[in-house]
Amino acid sequence: MTSAAGPSHVSHLIVGAGITGLATAAFLGRDSDYLIIESDGEIGGYCKTVTREGFTWDYSGHFFHFKHPEIEAWLRARMPGQEIRTVHKRSFISYAGRMIDFPFQKNIHQLPRPDFIECLHDLYFAREGAREGAREGEGPPAAEQNFKDMLYARYGRGIADKFLIPYNEKLYACDLSTLDRDAMGRFFPHAELSAIIRNMRAPDNASYNATFTYPRGGAIQYVNALASEVPAERLALGEALLEVDLAGKTARTTKRRLHFDHLISSAPFPRLATMAGLDHDRRAFTWNKVLVLNLGFDRKGARDVHWVYYPDRRRSFYRIGYYDNIFESDRLSLYVELGYPSDAAVDVEAARARVLAELQAEGVLSDHQLVAHHAVVMNPAYVHITHGSLDEVARLRRVLAGHGVHSIGRYGAWTYCSIEDNIVEARALAAALTASVA
Ligand SMILES: Cc1cc2nc3c(=O)[nH]c(=O)nc-3n(C[C@H](O)[C@H](O)[C@H](O)COP(=O)(O)OP(=O)(O)OC[C@H]3O[C@@H](n4cnc5c(N)ncnc54)[C@H](O)[C@@H]3O)c2cc1C
Repeated sequence: MTSAAGPSHVSHLIVGAGITGLATAAFLGRDSDYLIIESDGEIGGYCKTVTREGFTWDYSGHFFHFKHPEIEAWLRARMPGQEIRTVHKRSFISYAGRMIDFPFQKNIHQLPRPDFIECLHDLYFAREGAREGAREGEGPPAAEQNFKDMLYARYGRGIADKFLIPYNEKLYACDLSTLDRDAMGRFFPHAELSAIIRNMRAPDNASYNATFTYPRGGAIQYVNALASEVPAERLALGEALLEVDLAGKTARTTKRRLHFDHLISSAPFPRLATMAGLDHDRRAFTWNKVLVLNLGFDRKGARDVHWVYYPDRRRSFYRIGYYDNIFESDRLSLYVELGYPSDAAVDVEAARARVLAELQAEGVLSDHQLVAHHAVVMNPAYVHITHGSLDEVARLRRVLAGHGVHSIGRYGAWTYCSIEDNIVEARALAAALTASVA
């Protein structure tokens, strides 16, 4: 980085020291001229880990599924001495007082008999209708134009009304018909009718995350692995981007003005659009926020379970996870997730009291004593992927790229993805940027 009379100049200005920003820096390499600015006082973004009273918790339940072995190997090589478990996941849905294997749509035979018959009947005739209505080469049938309609059209009223809709409404905290039909991308466990029927005799619930890995020190260990490639002087903590002058290729931060050749931002996309003064349709950007309650107890709870989905609208949470069953520790250690509209007020104390009572009613707790807790609101948590957001993000990202500004990451690209996706995207951008100067 050079400093003349005016603003300093840096070739690559990276905004955010979460997974995406740190991965970009790591793959640009030590020989590149880059600086990371991070508004928070710590690295990690949403992949931070907290420890209390011997419990280790992430900001939210973070379990990792790597599809690129070379990325996992790269990270592990930078985590010396860290114990990392690969675990066969055990995930369930709490339904009518029993635990159904996940995904719901492949395990309707485990439901009470009348519910099973209703789901199977509706599934069969939904698929029949789709087959009769479908014409080759016409793209998605009219019945699948949004997320909610897609659920009804593919899985029928029974499965949709008993699980897919209540669960996703609790999570996304919005009307599901406003979401794009592919709002969850590869994270939605689609199932063909034949696979559903076959599963009744030969269970095969393998999915994109049949196993997961987890470091004993929590999600921050992957962040630290990326950060090990970043020299301390290239990282400015407690410094926020405030404004971007696209024409002048200048950024104003809380501490200085900087010229850049390329700006790589992992800040939430609508904020970057505003900071860059881009005309945009604000209504295209909606999202939920998630309150995560981490709870540590004095004794063990259920074994052989990693996380459970709760479609029941009477329960405030949509999912809970058991940290203690990853490393088989002897005290129940839970994360509990509650979805809210982005503008809702969140009363953490009241939410925790309600959750504890509900966990008791669900039989998750018996005579357990709470010995430690932590809460965080992730805002945004799940962005609402709609036709409008997809069009607006694509249009504005093209404008930004024309000025050397690249908005990437889960919130920078305004998408639904995993940390591995963030690393893959950052690696590709770093390769493109270094190739363009070579
Ligand atoms: C509830 C939930 C559960 C999840 N579970 C999993 C999981 O199990 N497995 C998995 O792989 N992924 C999971 N994810 C996704 C994962 O958390 C994200 O993909 C990843 O953390 C995103 O990293 P990022 O760097 O793109 O964004 P962030 O983590 O949001 O980092 C962006 C950084 O930019 C900083 N910043 C923002 N604005 C500015 C500014 N103006 N100036 C300077 N800095 C700024 C922020 O402080 C932040 O540190 C989950 C996400 C959620 C919400």
